[in-house]
Amino acid sequence: MNSFTMLKIIPIPAFADNYIWTLHDQQHAIVIDPGDAAPVHAYLQEHKLKLSAILVTHHHRDHVGGIIELAEVYNSPVYGPRHEKIPAITHPLGEGDAVEIVALNLHLQVIDIPGHTHGHIAFLWDNSVFCGDTLFGCGCGKLFEGTPTQLHHSLQRLALLPDTTLVYCSHEYTELNLPFACACEPDNSQLKQRELDTHRLREQHLPTLPSTIALEKATNPFLRCSEPEVIHNIELQLGHKLPSHDELAVFTAMRKLRDLC
Ligand code: ZN
Ligand code: FE
Repeated sequence: MNSFTMLKIIPIPAFADNYIWTLHDQQHAIVIDPGDAAPVHAYLQEHKLKLSAILVTHHHRDHVGGIIELAEVYNSPVYGPRHEKIPAITHPLGEGDAVEIVALNLHLQVIDIPGHTHGHIAFLWDNSVFCGDTLFGCGCGKLFEGTPTQLHHSLQRLALLPDTTLVYCSHEYTELNLPFACACEPDNSQLKQRELDTHRLREQHLPTLPSTIALEKATNPFLRCSEPEVIHNIELQLGHKLPSHDELAVFTAMRKLRDLC
């Protein structure tokens, strides 16, 4: 068995809809975006795990609120974006950097995906991406600090990952995002199937994540801004035409319309 197959990836739920993704091998663990220390602490205690590292994608409170307490209790290093003010970061990171977790024989790569916040990063590991609040199931993060151009570019970058890449978002937003996605593309059969699958999972209180890059490319309107049906429905909602062959204009209009929902 190699080191990958021994690792488990678990969502620790926090607040209303956050997931604190946790990787562990029954002895050592890392957590990503611990907005709250209490549920992480409880999970680690219950499973007798040592916290080898804390990873953070961006500075929002629901992602960083538990860092100081966890870092203190477990004496863990904290890896996070170089360009954001986050307390207790010991390893500031940006595009091209690597994270080595020796205890777990784990090697992650860092990419910059600004837009939701100006310094937002993602962690790539094996065939997984931990993308914080940038890409969601059937949706994307709000533009708090960056420009539409930045967020569009960041999403395009994620879309270029291999189709089989597993997408670990920091929020359970898929069901919430579906009505808007369906309004953008009512005849998309894969989207209809995803709607059924999502409702089935949520009825059982199960996560809809991870999704895959292939599924997002097939069903997420924010990755489908050049599809004629999507453009047509965005123009209908707007009440006017958009410049043709301008994917960014479609994306920008789509993000604004989504904010109004
Ligand atoms: Zn956020
Ligand atoms: Fe968040």
